[in-house]
Amino acid sequence: MQKQSVIVAKFGGSSLADAEQFRKVKTIIEENPARRFVVPSAPGRRGEGDEKVTDLLYRCYAEACAGREFMGLLGQIQERYREISSSLGLGLSLEHEFAVIGQAFQARAGEQYAASRGEYLNGLLLAAYLGYPFVDAAEVIRFDPKGRFQDERTNFFLQDRLRGMARAVIPGFYGADDAGNIHTFSRGGSDVTGALVARAVQAGLYENWTDVPGFLLADPGIVDRPRKIDAMTYAELRELSYRGATVLHEEAVYPVRREGISIHIRNTNHPEERGTVIRSRLSPEEETAITGIAGRKHFTAISIAKNRLNAQTGFARKLLEAFEENELAFEHMPSGIDTICVILPCAEYERKKDAIMDSLQRLLQPDKIKVDDDMALVTVVGRGMRSVSGIAARFFTALGDARVNIKMIDMGSNEINCTIGVSNRDFETAIRALYDALVE
Ligand code: ASP
Repeated sequence: MQKQSVIVAKFGGSSLADAEQFRKVKTIIEENPARRFVVPSAPGRRGEGDEKVTDLLYRCYAEACAGREFMGLLGQIQERYREISSSLGLGLSLEHEFAVIGQAFQARAGEQYAASRGEYLNGLLLAAYLGYPFVDAAEVIRFDPKGRFQDERTNFFLQDRLRGMARAVIPGFYGADDAGNIHTFSRGGSDVTGALVARAVQAGLYENWTDVPGFLLADPGIVDRPRKIDAMTYAELRELSYRGATVLHEEAVYPVRREGISIHIRNTNHPEERGTVIRSRLSPEEETAITGIAGRKHFTAISIAKNRLNAQTGFARKLLEAFEENELAFEHMPSGIDTICVILPCAEYERKKDAIMDSLQRLLQPDKIKVDDDMALVTVVGRGMRSVSGIAARFFTALGDARVNIKMIDMGSNEINCTIGVSNRDFETAIRALYDALVE
């Protein structure tokens, strides 16, 4: 398969929520013959108050497991697909499929099996509507029996199955182990399937069609009508998603990044808009100082003080050992001369509080340990952090003017991000202040 000639197009749940959305999707696909491989999500919300099919499936399966009547709810789900199918004039009956699903629910086929049926059925419908062959993800996306994703085997199976196929619809979100048991990725995982397919067919582009204009420079729930990001690098995307910007599943980046396949986030409801492009390098015109501002609340900072810490060898190793033996990952580790601080999510800390304190005491014999459990992290991402002078001055002035107290500063070693720790209550104020000062 030739690079550049193939586009893998993934459509999110809201892009396929009803027949009207299916029509838009078909128009988009037919407009460019390079859109040969299509990865659908399950039907999403059709508006306020509506429920996603995936959520309905989880709920329905929980009823089945509790031994309660669930056929009514399953019937509602069937009705959603029937509506789409009949409005599109597809002579496709899903009667048999639903009979199988009903029996499988009765037999407790598993929550992941239940959830996966949303994508499976939507894939069948979309394939019929587009006239594309259907490839069941259970055949090509591989997990081990414990539900751990198998990357290399998946790539092998996908390449093998899709080689020589001109087109296909491959449902997102799930796969299977060798015994045929279904496993899913975490929520939003159809993005991951799309990226895996893009890698397998060596696509020139991975299009991710959704219901937003692209990545925004800040959370619109915090900043009033933030600007859209036109282009960014994978590294910046990684920083932003990690800090809470949710457009793309975190795990969807690595398969395409390694192959140098660009990702293009686009809006199914406004295909004329430019969206957001993500690639390894940007052209000088695409360079902006600040790519985005994002953050998350509820972190705990553990500060460990020990006299002459700077002169001791092995201190950091023992510190990390304490975290490792408790299977705790950390987010940041800023340090001073006699103190070192480890920041991790509050929930993680709470889970292992006593054990980690014991380990730290035993391994480090510190002079003092201080715990601050009121920390939110705010990260500013952008190449300008390194190359534009005066950014740091504006950054700190803005926070000072907004009376935000900074508890921690960490400039990432890749120099495309700067993270600060503030009180949870200052989180929104800090983001707004930084946005106004650095972007507007
Ligand atoms: N349908 C699944 C979910 O709701 C997966 C996806 O949409 O990507 O999480």
